[in-house]
Amino acid sequence: MFKRILQLLYPKRCGACDLPLLESEDFLCTACRIELPKPGLFLKSPNWLSVKFDGLFPFTYVHAFFLFSPGSKVQHLMHQIKYKGQKDLGEFLGAWCGAHLKNNIQLISYDLIIPIPLFHKKFKERGYNQAACIAQGISQMTQIPYCENVLRRLSQSQSLVGQNRVSRYETLSGVFEVADPSVLKGKHVLLVDDTLTTGATFIAAAEKIKAAGASEISFLALAALK
Ligand SMILES: [Zn+2]
Repeated sequence: MFKRILQLLYPKRCGACDLPLLESEDFLCTACRIELPKPGLFLKSPNWLSVKFDGLFPFTYVHAFFLFSPGSKVQHLMHQIKYKGQKDLGEFLGAWCGAHLKNNIQLISYDLIIPIPLFHKKFKERGYNQAACIAQGISQMTQIPYCENVLRRLSQSQSLVGQNRVSRYETLSGVFEVADPSVLKGKHVLLVDDTLTTGATFIAAAEKIKAAGASEISFLALAALK
């Protein structure tokens, strides 16, 4: 009863369209669950996604759960996770994504999930790392081990706007370091981030992980810009 009154006074809202949720709904309304653009990329990476890495890093797979476009419901969703403190929403979406991944044969080859870390100042400001929330959700659903402290971010990335793909990568090349190489040896690592735009962040992190002894590296972004 009390819960019902609270819900009437302060309705939970859909993370994508912001409309009040029904009592039976969590995080997303039913319409958004159906309508959010999910490209279903798990079997084969489409060219528009793999081309972001071709010639720059020898990845094994690249996955994206949502299709990101400016002004879309997916952008609203990512904004809630990154800037509005909605870490539970991030974990929920990670678990949803993980359920799709679990149904895919590629799952067999992943040994370890590593989220793209935040710089410690940013982490303090935000109180959580949204990529880690997503990675936790994926790990819970798939049982692939998850490790948050292997990779460190040493600085805040500078703006990459206006740089070409090679100079973007060079800008980011000193941003990450591996804190514990022993856990990476011979492993197929799945690097996880919230949003994939150019791929430069993934590549910078992957270079360090590969140099530290990982055998293969794949990428998963909750949302990717086409
Ligand atoms: Zn909605």
